Amino acid sequence: MIEDQIQNDSLANLIFANSSEGLLITNGNGKIRYANPKVLSMFGYEYDQLVGQPIEILVPRNIHSKHIRLREGFEKSPSNRPMGVGSHLLGQHFNGKTFPVEVSLSPFVHKGDKYVLSFVTDISIRKLQEEKLKNTFNELDKSSTELKNLNRDLEAKVNERTLELADSIKKLQKSEKELHDALVREKEVNALKSKFISTASHEFRTPMATILSSLSLIESYQGSPVKQEKHFLRIRKSVDYLLKILKDLLTIEKTETSDGRFETEDISINDIVHDVINDLIPVYNKPNQKININYKENIVFISNEYYLRNVLINIIGNALKFSGSDGVIDITLSKVANEIIIKVQDDGIGIPEHEQKNIWERFYRGNNTTQTDGTGLGLYIAKKNTEILKGSISFESTVNKGTIFIIKLPSL
Ligand code: ADP
Repeated sequence: MIEDQIQNDSLANLIFANSSEGLLITNGNGKIRYANPKVLSMFGYEYDQLVGQPIEILVPRNIHSKHIRLREGFEKSPSNRPMGVGSHLLGQHFNGKTFPVEVSLSPFVHKGDKYVLSFVTDISIRKLQEEKLKNTFNELDKSSTELKNLNRDLEAKVNERTLELADSIKKLQKSEKELHDALVREKEVNALKSKFISTASHEFRTPMATILSSLSLIESYQGSPVKQEKHFLRIRKSVDYLLKILKDLLTIEKTETSDGRFETEDISINDIVHDVINDLIPVYNKPNQKININYKENIVFISNEYYLRNVLINIIGNALKFSGSDGVIDITLSKVANEIIIKVQDDGIGIPEHEQKNIWERFYRGNNTTQTDGTGLGLYIAKKNTEILKGSISFESTVNKGTIFIIKLPSL
């Protein structure tokens, strides 16, 4: 018997008895023929309780039949291999408790009989550690997911805050810009006011002085109505000029505060031009100045008379003002498609080329105008009022040859 042989062979006995691995020998029918002390302590049996029993005694009851089938299969084609690869093998202790084992099978033949030597290891502790490790991994995985979620939330919050911050910065920049613009406007208004005061006091001085001197001369010319008449005329001209300055300033005020809404009506451009000229002649017309008004027809279009008059008074007034006593002023009225074109041409002093870019500015006056009264507001008013009427204004000028202003207005 194989068990006796082991017992009797002192070396084999020594090896089997001291092996830290459980060693079992079963015969061809799956009966236990030998179990070393390690197997006995592992499964809680005495040697005699185990030897002679089918190997299934060490296998949980519910898989006995499966084990028998597997064992019979192994006996048909035995080979050295680990048992139950990929599945969790369980051993059953004498006290009924199961525990995880690892088994490796080595078939051999002894004196014509088939045997299987099984190496059995109790892997409870390893499994426990594996389980612990798995739990630790799971917890780690959970923490890492939580961390990821936290990170995502944090990123979302950071993004949200960044957007809020960008928005606040934008608002801040906007208010800063508004504040800056308001300051610039305030500065402009202040500069305008002081410019107005200096211009007004300067421009008022000459007509006021004229009025005063003419008044005292009128007194001294008692009894000479012809001489008096000349001074009445000078007083009238001075007053008209003072009124023109005041009117310019009021017009600017009204133009600047316009909300772009105004009434429109049918307007005869020819009538208005005639009217404006009649108003201007007493103020600016010189002895032999000639004014030609050219048109083919009476042009009627829809616009606003107040703004149109502001444009014409200043442009035609300048033509009279800046041309000589025998100058010729040509005013041409025409209508092309839905556009009214007014051309005002004079043969006067012209505008120096290097100053042409500045003349639309408030208070700007050409260097060659020192002989002529003015505030430098006329062209600014003309341009603003043309724009209110959705039109355009431009000019061409040559010094000492003359100037032509072209005003284009749509029918509104
Ligand atoms: P003002 O007539 O009071 O000087 P304006 O604003 O009407 O102011 O004109 C600005 C400047 O443009 C004038 O001072 C002058 O230099 C130039 N200017 C305007 N119209 C004419 C013109 N028809 N001929 C020559 N210069 C002109």
